[in-house]
Amino acid sequence: MTQILSSAPIKKKIIKELKTECKFLIENGIHPYLKVILVGNNPASLVYTASKKKFCEKIGAKCDIITLGENADQKTFLEIITGINQDPNVHGCIIQLPLPAHLSHLDVGKLVSEEKDVDGFHPNNLYAVLSNQISTDHFVSCTPKGIITLLMEYNVEIANKRVAIIGRSMIVGKPLACLFTNHDATVTLCHSKTPNIREITKECDIIVSAVGIAHLIDQSFISNKKNQVVIDVGMNTDTNGQLCGDVDFEKVKDHVLAITPVPGGVGPMTIISLAQNLLQASKNRLSL
Ligand code: NAD
Repeated sequence: MTQILSSAPIKKKIIKELKTECKFLIENGIHPYLKVILVGNNPASLVYTASKKKFCEKIGAKCDIITLGENADQKTFLEIITGINQDPNVHGCIIQLPLPAHLSHLDVGKLVSEEKDVDGFHPNNLYAVLSNQISTDHFVSCTPKGIITLLMEYNVEIANKRVAIIGRSMIVGKPLACLFTNHDATVTLCHSKTPNIREITKECDIIVSAVGIAHLIDQSFISNKKNQVVIDVGMNTDTNGQLCGDVDFEKVKDHVLAITPVPGGVGPMTIISLAQNLLQASKNRLSL
């Protein structure tokens, strides 16, 4: 029987832990506080930012979404971030991507100060991942961190496994390749220019798809030995307007050992990681 790697039981357990931790911080004078900067009204971004706020509030943290118009000027945008970086009462800040075209040239990873960079995009946080020297002062990108948490919670072995990741973005594929490597897996990072991806994925124990094409991964990517674990990062819309992943779940599920669903797989793990990072950033203030 294929194991469905649902995030639901993990979410339940981790929410309990996060609520306790948040209560402890509040009792010690630190009320975890996240600021989310949203520029424009991209429908998906509106949904994602609302979910982040809801989750923070569920665990007892504060979260404000600062919404700027689609044409917000660069000066205002940068001033808001500087204000957040300097505000001792704010512990985490994220800039919701994508930014409108006129701001997309900005090096977003360097804007939020590293100690408030709960998205894990700052060069120093990325370097900690790259060099496998992650301490409590560092934040790991939320989706890659969430994927590793999910696999560990389900006792999926990572060490000595062959992993194929499809997608080489800075927010998913590249940091995830480092994390798997840090856990002693052997990783092949595939992308749009990789020839014969199916030959690679068929040979791997774990396949991660982070591409953004609905139902791209079908049975032709799978070994059919029922021994592979498939992680679907994709958040796409199908022809009926429904949320779906990169993996054709119905066609693939009976041919693998384990698979994440969409929705209810990687997406919630990303928000859990964000909340964990926020509480860590808040806890780091205790020792100051
Ligand atoms: P991106 O657009 O930055 O990168 C896509 C990657 O896919 C690129 O590296 C590209 O080379 C590769 N690619 C494109 N077409 C390909 C093909 N035909 N074959 C192989 N590789 C191909 O995307 P991203 O920001 O990493 O996001 C990828 C997907 O993951 C999107 O659907 C996004 O919505 C989703 N996402 C989900 C979460 C979550 O929490 N579940 C978080 C981040 C991103």
